[in-house]
Amino acid sequence: MSSIIYPTTNFKATRTLTIERGEGAYVYDSEGNQYLEALAGLWCTSLGYNNRELVDTASEQMSKLSFSHMFGGKTHQVGMDLGVKLSEMVPVENAKVFFGSSGSDANDTHIKLLRYYFNAIGKPEKYKIIARERSYHGVTVAAASLTGLPPNHTHFDLPFGALGVLRTDAPHYFRGALAGESESQFVDRITNNLEQLILKEGPDTIAAFIAEPITGASGVIVPPEGYYEKVQAILNKYGILFWADEVITGFGRTGNDFGCTTMGIEKPAMMTFAKQLSSAYMPISASVIRGDMYDAMVDQSSSVGVFGHGYTYSGHPVACAVALKTLEIYERDNMFARAAVLGEYMQKRLGEFLEHPLVGEIRGKGMIAAVEMVANKQTGEAFNGGAVGAFAQQACQNHGMITRAVAGSSLAFCPPLIVTEAQIDEMIEKFSKALDDTYKFVKQEGLL
Ligand code: PMP
Repeated sequence: MSSIIYPTTNFKATRTLTIERGEGAYVYDSEGNQYLEALAGLWCTSLGYNNRELVDTASEQMSKLSFSHMFGGKTHQVGMDLGVKLSEMVPVENAKVFFGSSGSDANDTHIKLLRYYFNAIGKPEKYKIIARERSYHGVTVAAASLTGLPPNHTHFDLPFGALGVLRTDAPHYFRGALAGESESQFVDRITNNLEQLILKEGPDTIAAFIAEPITGASGVIVPPEGYYEKVQAILNKYGILFWADEVITGFGRTGNDFGCTTMGIEKPAMMTFAKQLSSAYMPISASVIRGDMYDAMVDQSSSVGVFGHGYTYSGHPVACAVALKTLEIYERDNMFARAAVLGEYMQKRLGEFLEHPLVGEIRGKGMIAAVEMVANKQTGEAFNGGAVGAFAQQACQNHGMITRAVAGSSLAFCPPLIVTEAQIDEMIEKFSKALDDTYKFVKQEGLL
C-alpha cells in the first residue's frame, strides 16, 4: 500500500512509472529508460531539465538568503527586481504584482483582490465572476469553483455558492456548434448568451470574466476568429473586467509573449501566471492587476488597515531569483520568437494526422496542441469515457514519450520550448506509432 494520497489520480490505479532524473527535453525512469517530455511536465518545464544557469541561480540564492517574507513592511531586492521585470513585460497597464506559489493560489488571490477593490470603490455588490464551461483554473475551493470541469466539482460539493461564479459557454466550435451552424454563427450565439447572462444577473453585480486565452487542461480549445473581439466589446459595454489566466499560455507558449497577444486580447485588467514563470524549477505564481485598481486599494487601506492576505511563500527569494533568471533567459535567447518558428513547424507536422482514421480534430497555436480521437470521423462523435485516451497515453509512454490525455480522448502536446526541430520530428514519429496502436485497440474492442 502506498503512503501517499496521489493528486489527480484514480485511488485504485497502480503506479506505472517512477521518474528519476531529467536532462534537456528528456526524463529517465528508475530503470534508465528515456522519454521525450512532450508535455513539459505539466505544461511548465519550458527550459527543460538540468538547466545549469537555473540550478546555479537557485543554489547561490539559497546560500545568500534562503528565506525571507514580505509581510508587514519587509522586502528583498530579488523580489523587487522580479516585480519590476514582470510588470514591464505584461500588457496590463501600470501592472502591480502579488506573488504566490501556484496557479490555484494566484487565482484565489485574484478573487480576493477583486472583492477588496470593489469594496474599496464602494461597489461591494459587484463580486460575481463569469467563468466558462470546460475551463481550468485550479483546484483550491475557490479556484476549483472557477474551473468548469465536472471531476473537479463532483464529490466536493463545488462550485462554492457564496463565490458567485456564473458559467458561460466554452468557445469550442467542433464540440459546441449546432447542426449546420457556421463558425461565425456559433460565435454570435455564444457571445449573445454571454450578454444575456450579464443582463439577467445585472451588470452591476459582475466583477470579472476569467478566461484562459487558449485552454490547456480542458483540451486545448482555440476559440474561433472574432470570439474575443466580441467578448471584449460586451465586457467593455457593461464595465466588466477581463481576467486572463495565462498559467499555461504565458511566456512564449502560443508563439508570442502571451496568449493575450496571440488571441488579440487587449490590455486585460488582470493576469495570472505560474508554471513557465520559473520554468517550474521553483514553485512561484503571480497575480497581476492594473495600477489604478491597486491605487484604489491603497486609498482604502487608510481606513481598513492591513490587507489581510499573504502566503508564507509570497515572494520566496529563491523562487523569485529563479523566475528572474528564467525571464532573462527567455529574452536573451529570443525564446518567444524561436517558439513562434518551431511552433509553426510543430502545428504543421501534427496537422499530418488529420488524415488518420481515428483523428477528428487538431487544435493548437505555437507550441501547444491537442489531437482529438473520435469514434466517428464523419460525424465527429466522441468516444464514451476515457479508455481510448488512457490507452493512447500509455501507448505513447511505451514508445518513449510522455504526454497526457485531456478532455477524454484528446492527447496534448506542449513540449519544453527548448526542443529542436529534430525532437519535434521524434515526437511525431512516436505519436504516429502510438496512434496506430490505439487504432488497433479501438478496432479490437469494437469501439469504432
Ligand atoms: N490555471 C490554469 C490555466 C492552469 O492550467 C492551471 C494548472 N494546470 C492552474 C490555473 C492551476 O495551477 P496549479 O496547478 O499550479 O495550482
